[in-house]
Amino acid sequence: MAADTPVSRVLSQKQQQALSPDDVIRLFSEGNRRFVNSELTRRDHSAQIRDAVDGQFPKAMVLSCVDSRVPVEDVFDLGIGDIFVARVAGNFSNTDILGSMEFATKISGAKAILVLGHEHCGAVKAAIDNARLGNITAMLKNIKPAIDAFADYEGEKTSANPEFVHMVAEKNIRLTMDEIRANSPVIKALEEQGDVTIIGALYDMDSGRVEFLD
Ligand SMILES: [Zn+2]
Repeated sequence: MAADTPVSRVLSQKQQQALSPDDVIRLFSEGNRRFVNSELTRRDHSAQIRDAVDGQFPKAMVLSCVDSRVPVEDVFDLGIGDIFVARVAGNFSNTDILGSMEFATKISGAKAILVLGHEHCGAVKAAIDNARLGNITAMLKNIKPAIDAFADYEGEKTSANPEFVHMVAEKNIRLTMDEIRANSPVIKALEEQGDVTIIGALYDMDSGRVEFLD
C-alpha cells in the first residue's frame, strides 16, 4: 500500500483469529514506536466507521488511567475497531472492569489485556498523600495496596518523591494484573490455555514511550 493511502478497513474476525497474544504485544510495541516518532498511520475514519458497522473484532483490551495526556489509541497507533479501552483514575480493576475484560476476551476474542499505568499519575500521587474529597476518597482506596507494599521503604513517602511515586505506580500495575488473575477465573483460564496474555506497561510522560514490565 502506498504510504499516502489512508487505512480504510478495520480488523476482521479472520485477522483477529490469526493473531497470537505475542503478535499483539509486538504490534503494541511497533505502534508505540511510530507514535514516539510522530509517524501515526493515516486513517480514513468515515470509511472505517462504515466498515465497522457490522461487528467488532478488537485485538486487545487496555486498562488505562483517565489522564488526558495518555491518548490510548494514539499511544499505540491504533484506531477504530482495534482495542477495547477501560479507563479509571489509577488503572485498578473492580467487578465492572473485570466483566468488561471478560466480554473483551472470552466473548469478543481479544488476545491480550494490557494494564497501562503512567508516570506522574495524579491518582497515585493523591493516594500517596491521603487526599480526601467526595467519592475520590473511596476511589483512592483501590491504590492503597500498592502503597502498603512499601511499608519498609525508608525514603520520603510523599508525592514530592519521584522515586516513590514511580515505585507505587509500577506496583499498582502489577497488583492489578494479579487481581485480574485472582478475581476472574474466566480470564485466568484463557491465560493458562495460551489464548490471552496479561501484561503491564508504564507510559513515560517525557518521551511518550511505553515500557513493558517483565
Ligand atoms: Zn493517572
